[in-house]
Amino acid sequence: MGAPSTLRFVGLDIGGSFLKGACVNPAGKVEARLHEKIEKDSLEALLQQLERAVRSLAGPSGARAVGLGIPGIVEQGTALVHGAPNVPVLNGCVFGADFAKRIGMPTFAENDANAAALAEAWLGAGRGSERQIFVSLGTGIGAGIILDGRIWSGTSGYAGEIGHIQVEPDGLLCGCGSHGCLETVAGIPGWVRRAELALANRESTLRGQPLEPKTIVDAAQAGDAAALEVVAGSARALGIGIGATLNLLNLDRVVLGGGVAAAGDFLLTRVAEEVRKRTFPQVFTDCAFKLAELSGDAGVVGAARVAIIGLSR
Ligand SMILES: [Zn+2]
Repeated sequence: MGAPSTLRFVGLDIGGSFLKGACVNPAGKVEARLHEKIEKDSLEALLQQLERAVRSLAGPSGARAVGLGIPGIVEQGTALVHGAPNVPVLNGCVFGADFAKRIGMPTFAENDANAAALAEAWLGAGRGSERQIFVSLGTGIGAGIILDGRIWSGTSGYAGEIGHIQVEPDGLLCGCGSHGCLETVAGIPGWVRRAELALANRESTLRGQPLEPKTIVDAAQAGDAAALEVVAGSARALGIGIGATLNLLNLDRVVLGGGVAAAGDFLLTRVAEEVRKRTFPQVFTDCAFKLAELSGDAGVVGAARVAIIGLSR
């Protein structure tokens, strides 16, 4: 055992716009934070930024290991990254031995939604559950599935792509090439598009307001008919996707996180009701629905958790 300071772990959350980082102790307490614009013009620029971030967060006493939250698919075993449209220089990158050698610390990588799921399962709304799904609601919709206490990545790392469950067979073309994916309806652009449609022919308190999930949910809560229609559409789509997942996997916890989840209990209650209509009674009653608790820290704490789990294997 080294000194307490060397028992710390660094978590880095690589996003399309920002790099966020934290140094946490083994209990998950954040002891240092970092938040800067991402440098993604070239892979080398990004790797240099990651290296600087690790050194600055770990400080002179260093850290036991580094975890990376990646906005794309990470193949387990090889740590090969692909499907990272927001940080394309990551595609084809392998975050294994090479990066570990560069920074002199063991390094482990995981998809960012999976990392956030691990954080909520460790310290947040997923505590005490061994079989759960964390659904991240933002511009896109992703998820991390935990089965028997471990992330389920699937054969190629694609498990948890709940945003691409088809909820409208003749719906809009999705970025993935399919039509009517959950993400096209209940991702932020889907909320905005449906709000514009709902406002087209009637009076609404939403008129002149920024059309974003939080303001739409607030207006719905105050009884605005157009806003209620938009929230109902999102809840229904989420209910179809989450309901299918629960009938398939019989999980005991659903955690809603990401920016849209800030809309709160009003949305959560409606999503749960739409799930209830589509699942076996016991599948529904045995599952608890919760809002994420770690908000802005889930990505970095989850990345640190990836490092802790990686080191313990
Ligand atoms: Zn899709």
